[in-house]
This record gives sequence, structure tokens and C-alpha cells, in this order.
Amino acid sequence: ANAMLSALPTTIFSVMSALAVEYDAVNLGQGFPDTEGPADLIDAAAAALRDGRNQYPPLTGVPELRMAVASANARFCGIEVDPATEVVVTCGATEAITASLMALVNPGDEVVVFEPLYDTYLPVLRMLGAVARPVRLLPPHWSLPRAELAAAVGPKTKAILLNTPMNPTGKVFTRAELEFIADLMVRHDVYAVCDEVYEHLTFAPVRHVALMSLPGMKARTIRIGSAGKSFSMTGWKVGYVTAPAPLAALVAKAHQLLTFTVAPNLQRAVAIGLEKDSDYFLQLSESMRQSRDMLTRGLRSAGFEVLPCDGSYFVIADFAGLGFAGDDVAFCEAMTRRLRVTAIPVSAFYDPDGGPGPRTLVRFAFCKRPEVIAEAVSRLARVD
Ligand code: PMP
Ligand code: GLN
Repeated sequence: ANAMLSALPTTIFSVMSALAVEYDAVNLGQGFPDTEGPADLIDAAAAALRDGRNQYPPLTGVPELRMAVASANARFCGIEVDPATEVVVTCGATEAITASLMALVNPGDEVVVFEPLYDTYLPVLRMLGAVARPVRLLPPHWSLPRAELAAAVGPKTKAILLNTPMNPTGKVFTRAELEFIADLMVRHDVYAVCDEVYEHLTFAPVRHVALMSLPGMKARTIRIGSAGKSFSMTGWKVGYVTAPAPLAALVAKAHQLLTFTVAPNLQRAVAIGLEKDSDYFLQLSESMRQSRDMLTRGLRSAGFEVLPCDGSYFVIADFAGLGFAGDDVAFCEAMTRRLRVTAIPVSAFYDPDGGPGPRTLVRFAFCKRPEVIAEAVSRLARVD
């Protein structure tokens, strides 16, 4: 058996969701909306199933979705790309991340990552034989530690793997931070893989900036989006990669090995979604901002210190002031069992082989209906 996979624990998101079910807890752990996405997309996906285009679609995605991804790049980020050669549709951002890293790295290459990090990054890099160079961001603001980042980039660095808006921190990289990264990339001839699944989930006045839109970055950047997040249907698993043609061709080869194609009806529905007017995207982020505010207020009144959050589905709360004797894992288990509210321990987002990270931070998902957030808050009010 493969030693790395044998040693890989089951993802914390599934573990905590199972615990939430066991204790009938309000699940603010795993990040998924509890409402359906847009009805017109669901209708379009259902209609597309019936109209007889159910065989393998093209390797890089159906043309209408590739065109919609290209126009969305232009509309939202000012990035001009060729839909025929610079877009690849994948099974969610999860596959896109793996395929992009497969496209870029050779064994021994170094890839800079930012901690806390999403749970697939490190295992995938290690399976590819790459060397991860974690750079730690620090609470509460998670600002880019510029000197440390500059020190982590060197002759062996192949790429920087970046997530903005960032899970679990809710941080949105500023234009100045991205400019600093871009400058390092040019000076050291480095690529970037940008996981931008929460690109439409930023809260005013903060806006998402795509690294790929900065001068000189198009040739060096692989940008990843997800229909699951932009259309609130995480089960659809439709992702999209935008990359310069030579890199997109390699991402397509990786995709050929991993899954080859993506369900055509879902692709066609997502194409319609990406063409929605700006009201749709504004409403999505505005309703998510209200949910963030509601949960933040509730967590504060229950005695948590809530860290700032400018984007994503998540806020981080510090339970240090609550007098709980135990770490974040123990806290999340106890909160599920005793108060029947589930969250994710933030230590799950750190390299298990790295130095100790924060131990009193937990991540709560607010992509839930107001009545669900209200129920969670009322259960948390019993915290002692
Ligand atoms: N990257 C990040 C940062 C995520 O939070 C998620 C899922 N929540 C993904 C990637 C995976 O996206 P998908 O469901 O489209 O595979
Ligand atoms: N990305 C989601 C989260 O951060 C969960 C995805 C998963 O369950 N693998 O909660």
C-alpha cells in the first residue's frame, strides 16, 4: 500500500460532519451552504440531462463553459484569455489544485505555501515529491510576513501556492501584498497557483484582487475558481482553471489522467451561472456578509473573541477567554457533544510536522440560513 496515503488521516471536514450528525449538532464545521443555489441553474442542469448530450464532453470542457469562464475573467478581473487554449474545466477546485501542481512541479522542486492552509495542499505536494516551504501568517490580521516570504523564495522555488480569499482565516490578500508576491515571482522566475474559489465572497469595502490581473503575471499564474462556491452548490464539483496556453495544456494532461471530463449538464448550467448579471454576485456576497455579522455578534456575546474576516464562508473565533482546559480539537469535540454546535479546529490547517501553531482558535462556517445561525448562537449562549 502507498505509505503516504496510509498515513493520511480522513479529512477533518468529514470527521466533524459525522460527529455533528451523531450528536444532532448544528453543523457550522464543513463549509457548505444549507440552501439550494439558483433555481435557473438547477433547471438548466436538469434540462441538459434530458436533451441527449450525455456522452463524454471535450477534455478541456464544453465550449460554452470555457467561453463563460473567459468572459468572467474579463468582466470581473480585466484578464483577457483565449477560451480555446487557456481554460480547463475540472472536477471542482480540488482537482484543479492537484492538476495545477502536477503541471508545474518536478520531484525536489520547492513550493511556498501559506499557513494556515487548506487540507489538500501539503499531501498533494508531498505525493508529487515536491518540498513544501510553509510561511506562517499570524492572527489576528494574517498579514503577509514579507521578510519571511522573501527568505523562503530561492533558486529551488518553482511556485507559490496562494489562497485568496483565504480559508480558514477569512483574509483577503491586499493589492500591495500581491504586488510584493508578483515582484518576487519575477525576480526568482517563479509561478503561482492561485486558489480563488471564494473570489465572489468578499465583504464590502474589501474586494478580491486576482494576482493574475497584475502586470506581467498572466504568463506565470494558474488561477482556480469553483462553481460550488460561486453558485452555492458545493456538490456539483465543477471547477475551472485559467492559465497561459503552455501551462493550460499541461493542466489538461493532468486532468486527462485524473478524471478526463466533467458531467456535461453541470458544465452547461455553470456557463449560464457565470453569465449572470452583477446583481446576482452582489447579492450573494451581501447576504453572506449579513450572515457573517450575525454569527460574529452571537459568538462575541457567548464570550469568544472573533477575528476579522473580509471574505470566504468562515470566521475564526478564539475561545481562550472561556476558560476551557484543552486544545482546539478537544474544544470542538466538547462543543459538539455538550452544546451541540460543531466547528473546525484551526490546528487542522497547519503542517502536522511543523512547529506548534495556535491552539485556541476554531473556525465557524456562516454560509447558513439566519434561523440556523440563530439556533447555534442560542445553544452557544449556554457555554460556561
Ligand atoms: N480550496 C479551498 C480553499 C476550499 O475551501 C475548497 C472547498 N471548500 C476547495 C478548494 C475545493 O473546492 P471544490 O469543492 O470546488 O473542489
Ligand atoms: N472546503 C470545505 C471547507 O473548508 C470542505 C470541503 C471538504 O469537505 N473537503 O469546509
